[in-house]
Order: sequence, then C-alpha cells, then structure tokens
Amino acid sequence: MEIIQTTEVRALVDLQKMDTHGDALAARAAAVPVKIAALEAAFEEKKNSMTAAKDALVALQVKKKDLELKIAEAEERIRKHQRDLNAVKENNAFKALLSEIETCQKERDGFETEVLLLMEEVDKAAAVDKTMKGEIKGIEDKKNAEAAVLEAEKKALDAEIAQAAALRAAAAAAITPALVEKYEHLRGRRAGLAIACVHEDPATGKFSCGGCHMSLTPQKMVDVKKKDAFALCADCRRMIFLERTVYG
Ligand SMILES: [Zn+2]
Repeated sequence: MEIIQTTEVRALVDLQKMDTHGDALAARAAAVPVKIAALEAAFEEKKNSMTAAKDALVALQVKKKDLELKIAEAEERIRKHQRDLNAVKENNAFKALLSEIETCQKERDGFETEVLLLMEEVDKAAAVDKTMKGEIKGIEDKKNAEAAVLEAEKKALDAEIAQAAALRAAAAAAITPALVEKYEHLRGRRAGLAIACVHEDPATGKFSCGGCHMSLTPQKMVDVKKKDAFALCADCRRMIFLERTVYG
C-alpha cells in the first residue's frame, strides 16, 4: 500500500502539528528542572569554595594562637630563669642560666618573626574570605531570581500544555479512530513525526521528504499531489503531504 485514501488528510496534518507543538512544549517544561538543578549545583560549588576559604582562615588563626602560646611559654621560662639568677651563687651555674635565658629569647624571637609573617597571611585570607562572602550573597540572589523566573516559566508552560492537550484530545476525537491509531503507531516509531510535509526545491522542482529528507521518485511526486490521500515515503514510510495540496 503506497497511498492512504482519506478525506481527513487536513485533520490528521493538523493533529501532527498539534503533537509536534505539544512535544516541543513538553521538552521545554522538562528542561526547566534541569536548568534549576544546574543553578543550584553552581551555587553549591561556589559555597564550597567559600567554606574552603573560611577553613583556610581559621587554620591560620589557630596556627597564630599556637605560636602566641609558645611565645608566652618562652617568656615564662625567661622570667623563671631570671628569678633563679638571684638565688645562684656558683659562677658556672650563673653562666648556664644566662645561656639558657639567651636560648629562650632566641626561641621567642623566632616565634615572633613567624607570627609577623603569619599575620600577613591571615590578613590575605581574611580578605579572600570577605570577598567570597560578598560574592556568594550576590550569586545566591542571582540564582534565586533566575530560579524564580524559570519556575514561573514552568508554571506557564504547564498551563499551556494542559490547554494544548485538551485541544489535541478534541481534535483526535473528531478523526476516524482507525486512522488515529495508524498515525499514533507510526508516530511512536518515527520520533514523534508520523506525517511529514514534502519540501519542494524551488530551483530544481524536486521534492523531498520532510521527515528523512530523501528525494521523492517521480511516481511519489505524482502521488503526493493527489487530493484526499497521503503518499508514503519510500524511505522512512512516513505519511507525506504537499502543503499546497492540503491547504491550497
Ligand atoms: Zn521520508
């Protein structure tokens, strides 16, 4: 069978148009949660880098506290040794204490140098932390605004889909059920496109199938011009029609 005779060509072509439109709406609606998830993921990633900056700052602050504690301990030892000096009579013991004090002072000075260097790092880390906090707020606001727009878009799409589905159901109900069944079967096997418009090349006058883009044979070109009939594409088996025959 290479031709389907029916007076419902136009109704079926219209049904295909409705379905193609409905499929596009459904795809757009399905893309919305994906887009929102991507926004959330990007925000989470930024939040993680903010947490990392905060952790780096805290680690430096802990290191500084630790050094300050060591300085205090060294100073305590120095004071203790200085007190001990008064009690010592032996010259050698006196010298040993002085040398001990000097060692403690060197240690303390070393820690103090470390603290000074660390303070620069702490300042830098604090600046990064502050910048991150400011950025994250901006990014969060932007993310929320974009998500709100997407959610509104989804809501509008859902309403449009419901409306289109009702119109589609009414249109399908008005067509002979066996034809609708044939159409549905083909649509299920041909990526949603059961009925394809034939393209006419204005330069060569050649026809090609709008579904698979293969050229039509001269016989198919004759068939597709017939009124109240669908030709079938020799390659993809879709029902094909000529716009000017159907709507002309
Ligand atoms: Zn085809």
